[in-house]
Amino acid sequence: MGGTPGQGRQAGGTPRAALADLLAGNRRFVSGQPIHGHDVTAAAAASGDQQPYAVVLGCIDSRVPLEAIFDQTFGAICVIRTGGHVLDRAVCGSIEYVVGQLGVPLVLVLGHERCGAVGAAVDALRTGERPGGSLAYLVDEIAPAVTDVGFDDPAVHPLAIRRHVRRTVRMLREDDLLAGPVAAGRVAVTGGLYDLATGEVALLDPGS
Ligand SMILES: [Zn+2]
Repeated sequence: MGGTPGQGRQAGGTPRAALADLLAGNRRFVSGQPIHGHDVTAAAAASGDQQPYAVVLGCIDSRVPLEAIFDQTFGAICVIRTGGHVLDRAVCGSIEYVVGQLGVPLVLVLGHERCGAVGAAVDALRTGERPGGSLAYLVDEIAPAVTDVGFDDPAVHPLAIRRHVRRTVRMLREDDLLAGPVAAGRVAVTGGLYDLATGEVALLDPGS
């Protein structure tokens, strides 16, 4: 199996070690020196019980493939992606499962610059035209972040992206089954931002 498991992958790892491991993977990715390929031997090596050490919730954007940008191999992280990393019951239930049943100590919410879903929410509020179908749900869930910034603010898009990540983090910290482990310090929920141009992940609130 390729690669060297870091501290975060030890059983019973801490949220801090898990986050350090994820960010180390991002540094490998940014430096152009990933150690994890996507070959079938790595898949086979991870075919037993899974012991992921983090769950990353990100956007569906095709430019933000989460396993690649954190240089993670099979079995290392659970990935959930929705437009604008919007929560719903299936997403929350999935995270509750990973944290509660698999003992994962870290939930990272990853937004990204130029997010189309946030752009759609900005457009909907500016024009007053709410999209149809289930897209309306995405827009409605992102709208509070846009409203907080003010949709007429020239920098509303980048500011709302950050605010929406923080809001998603807050909602997860208050989730019925996550609030206890978070309060006890066994689980951390934190937010980050992916830079499309550099490939770098920056924590929004380092140390939180
Ligand atoms: Zn996006």
